[in-house]
Amino acid sequence: MTAAADAVSHEADRLTELDSAIGDADHGGNVRRGFEAVREELGEDVPGTPGAVLMTAGRKLVSTVGGASGPLYGTLLRRTGKALGTGERVGREELAAALRTGIDAVAQLGGAAAGDKTMLDALYPAVEALADSGGKDFEAARAAAERGAEETVPLQARKGRASYLGERSIGHQDPGATSAALLVAALAAADAGQEAATSDSGGSE
Ligand code: ADP
Ligand code: MG
Repeated sequence: MTAAADAVSHEADRLTELDSAIGDADHGGNVRRGFEAVREELGEDVPGTPGAVLMTAGRKLVSTVGGASGPLYGTLLRRTGKALGTGERVGREELAAALRTGIDAVAQLGGAAAGDKTMLDALYPAVEALADSGGKDFEAARAAAERGAEETVPLQARKGRASYLGERSIGHQDPGATSAALLVAALAAADAGQEAATSDSGGSE
């Protein structure tokens, strides 16, 4: 969550720039405000399990972000956290499966499908790359999410504010897919850090 807050805060201007082309120029501010609130909340009190951390973070996003991305990312984190259950440690495969559940919940809440030019166009390729690697390769997930975000450029938006533009939404990268790729990259970076920290003992958690 700290890496996520760092990433979206660092890229907030670019996200808002993308949202000014096909939306209302608030996406960077929205995700920055949300994830900084998450950072602050977790700085005061860290819940005891990874699942509870994600559920707390998700609730915070819903309560602090007014735009569409607040409830959508809030749902992603809450439902992923809920799917993780109460284990004190979480393995990669477990996290990959829980992410799939969280992403399906985002699709259900927003009614969007792959190719609608939304955050799902980065999130689905990420979980597919994880599935292809047996739930292990978060670096592949990062690359797939980034590619997915780039591949939203030629798409016409069919959900969210950008869909009001019709064909004029073509030719711009979707802001939500771009922030989603940043979140997956933060996850991959955290995983790589964890790997370095546990490689001495051969751990895979
Ligand atoms: P708003 O559109 O309310 O201003 P944001 O600018 O914070 O909210 O977020 C916009 C992003 O939210 C879009 O770029 C898109 O990726 C995502 N989004 C919007 N509607 C949906 C939806 N129904 N399903 C999935 N993602 C969506
Ligand atoms: Mg917006």
